[in-house]
Amino acid sequence: MSAVLTGHCHCGAIRVEFEPGKPVAELPLRACQCGFCRRHGSRTTSDPASRLHIEVAPGALTRYRFGRRATDALICADCGVYVASLIEVEGRAFATLNVAGVGFEAFADRTPEPAVYDYETDEAKLARRLSRWTPTVLVETSPSA
Ligand SMILES: [Zn+2]
Repeated sequence: MSAVLTGHCHCGAIRVEFEPGKPVAELPLRACQCGFCRRHGSRTTSDPASRLHIEVAPGALTRYRFGRRATDALICADCGVYVASLIEVEGRAFATLNVAGVGFEAFADRTPEPAVYDYETDEAKLARRLSRWTPTVLVETSPSA
C-alpha cells in the first residue's frame, strides 16, 4: 500500500499521520462549500479504509463547533490552522482531514470537487460521515513533568 503521509499545522503543534488504504491519487479531494471551510480554503480527504493519527502538543487544541454542532473542527490554538473535523460515535472517532492545513504536497496540484451538504438531515449527515470518514486516533499529549 501507499506510504504513510505525514504533516502538521503551520507551527507544528498538531502533527498528523495518514495511512492510505488505497493509492493517494484515488483518494477524494473535496472543497466543502460551507462558510467555515470557505474561510479556511479547506481541501479535505477522507477514506474509511485509511487510518489517521493526530497528535496534539499540550494545550494546542481548540475544538470549534458550529451549525448542527455534531462535529468538532480541530484548530491549532497556537497558529490557527484548521486541521480536521472529528466525530466520536460509541467510543470510536472518525475524521475528515484538511490536507491544505497540514501541507500534504501529494494533493497540491489536484482540483478539488466542490461539496455542498446544506440540505442533509442530521441522520443523513451522520450516515455519510460514518461511511466516508477516516477511522482516527486523536492523542493529546500531556506536559512532560
Ligand atoms: Zn499550529
